[in-house]
Amino acid sequence: MPKRVLIVGGVAGGMSAATRLRRLDEFADVVVFERGPFVSFANCGLPYHLGGEIADRGKLIVQSPQRLKQVFKLDVRANTEVVSIDRAAKTVSARNVLTGEESTERYDDLILATGASAVIPPTPGVRRPGHFTLRTIPDMDGVMEWITKRNAKTALVLGGGFIGLEAAEQLHRRGLSVTIAEKNPQVLTPLDPEMAAHVQIELKKHGVRLELSNPVERFEDASTGASIAVLADGTRIPADVVIVGVGVRPESKLAKDAGLEIGTSGGVKVNSRLQTSDPHIWAAGDLIEVTHGVTGRPAVIPLGGPANRQGRIIADNICGNDSHYRGTLGTAVVRVFDVTAAVVGANEALLKKIGTPFQAVHLHPNSHAGYYPGAKPIALKVLFDPESGKLLGAQAVGEDGVDKRMDVLATALFAGLTIDDLAELELCYAPPFGSAKDPINLAGMAAQNVTNGLVTVAQWHQVPALIAGGAVVVDVREPGERDGGIIPGSRSIPLGSLRDRLHELPKDKELLVHCASGQRSYNACRVLTQHGFKCRNLTGSFKTWKAAQQSA
Ligand code: FAD
Repeated sequence: MPKRVLIVGGVAGGMSAATRLRRLDEFADVVVFERGPFVSFANCGLPYHLGGEIADRGKLIVQSPQRLKQVFKLDVRANTEVVSIDRAAKTVSARNVLTGEESTERYDDLILATGASAVIPPTPGVRRPGHFTLRTIPDMDGVMEWITKRNAKTALVLGGGFIGLEAAEQLHRRGLSVTIAEKNPQVLTPLDPEMAAHVQIELKKHGVRLELSNPVERFEDASTGASIAVLADGTRIPADVVIVGVGVRPESKLAKDAGLEIGTSGGVKVNSRLQTSDPHIWAAGDLIEVTHGVTGRPAVIPLGGPANRQGRIIADNICGNDSHYRGTLGTAVVRVFDVTAAVVGANEALLKKIGTPFQAVHLHPNSHAGYYPGAKPIALKVLFDPESGKLLGAQAVGEDGVDKRMDVLATALFAGLTIDDLAELELCYAPPFGSAKDPINLAGMAAQNVTNGLVTVAQWHQVPALIAGGAVVVDVREPGERDGGIIPGSRSIPLGSLRDRLHELPKDKELLVHCASGQRSYNACRVLTQHGFKCRNLTGSFKTWKAAQQSA
């Protein structure tokens, strides 16, 4: 008897499992149930059709059931929802959502890849006409049709996460005037605030209105049929269309109803082989609880890459090839107009919350050799264990070369590398692509300088306390650079004249030294330390400090 495998959910995790199963077992009977009208569609591409960047809607539908049957001999049933699981009988009940027709299907193995559902906040009026979530092709079609029919001019995006930002950028590209309302004091919470600030600056530069820490309290009906978002401070923002993007939660009802174990994070609990508490039921993707690759704690991390890899691992295990999932690092990237923001691992906020000791360095290296045209600065933050030097997380924002650096850092984190390894990584270099000391090497070197005791660093958020404690702020930039702003109270002693002006500085007080990016101030700190001064280098220096001020 051929093995019968049923798969619930026909997109990332489900379809990856289905096609791998077929490659491993030509004779298995594989049936995929998908509640929606499309399988194997590019959910990650949906925002880009809104703005016309992916002009052809058809490109988002990667495979059709017919093609999957032809090529992979898969029985794909779109518009069919699995409504219950009978674990004792090893059957599921499925209902055709168009006809209401029901059937009972037997399985040897069952794969749940039901994804996540959009969180709808309890804000009064949030379900008004013209308000959409953006998870499926019908959702996207709904937004497009509404915008066209209503000749929409204004949009409000509720939530400044990855999808909210992508939607905001694309609606702006389409010519709408866009507001992002975010209840937190920053967008993109996987980034720390001083890093997210660079994204906020970019949004404002392009005319996107940002309402941070000012949640929408209710939506009212404008006389035109549009919505009016009433914010906590009373501000009223008219919106012809609203995108609700405040997050997702595992679509776990089917699993819960079947009595499968649910983890503390709300995702379905699986072992490293991605088996649920029932050994014949497997689960992948946004539905499951994973182990956070840095903290080792349970987490729900909804991303496309993990979902696809998990589907493949399940197929391997079902076909007798022992395969294990090693945890999720949360490697993510988003483009917001001209900047790219990317993140991996744990951020400072998470490390503080769970009490993990860490040290952080900020840098602003160029994406490639500064003398070669087109180099752009990258704001880079690297977090590491101060004892072992092991990498804990990284964040980067910039116009060029951000994704490449973050992929190197994600690989380093996956491999358990340390900051010493980063300093020594041999990365490709020619002037159009990088520098002889790549930003990754520089991050490792800057971190080594801290762990080796060559320099003590201060973080941007420590500045007020250090000044209050009597620290003297020394700005070693050239005087002209101070025209672009200063840290209040700072003394200007350019690096080139520092050795001649040491007598101007007190030896009984701490010196908080900064330049533009932290590199010249590191050199200054080396001079000062060797002359007997007590000093700290402001890591990331003025650029990081200024961005952080703008985030407030
Ligand atoms: P999905 O791909 O969502 O598939 C689950 C499917 O299961 C759904 O189609 C659903 O209809 C179906 N289903 C649910 N219940 C049932 C049932 N009872 N019976 C039958 N079918 C059912 N991730 C990234 O890493 N990078 C990105 O750039 C990115 N951009 C995104 C942009 C958007 C707009 C969205 C919505 C998501 C984005 N993601 C991105 C997230 C990524 O798409 C998901 O993490 C990934 O698709 C999860 O895969 P999955 O198989 O768990 O769920």
